[in-house]
Amino acid sequence: MPKKSPWHSIKQSVHHNNTNCNTGNNIEKENLRTGAGGKPLCQECEKLSQQGR
Ligand SMILES: [Zn+2]
Repeated sequence: MPKKSPWHSIKQSVHHNNTNCNTGNNIEKENLRTGAGGKPLCQECEKLSQQGR
C-alpha cells in the first residue's frame, strides 16, 4: 500500500497518510503542509488503510 509521511491542508481539520485518498490529493499547493498538524487521521485514509490500499 502506498504509504507516505503524513500531510494536511490548513483548510481541513484532518490529516492524510494514504496517496489514494481523493481529499488528500485535491489539496491546493498553497494550503498543503507536511506532518499531521496535530489533527486526526482522515476517515477516507483510514478506510483505505483498512482495505490494504
Ligand atoms: Zn485522507
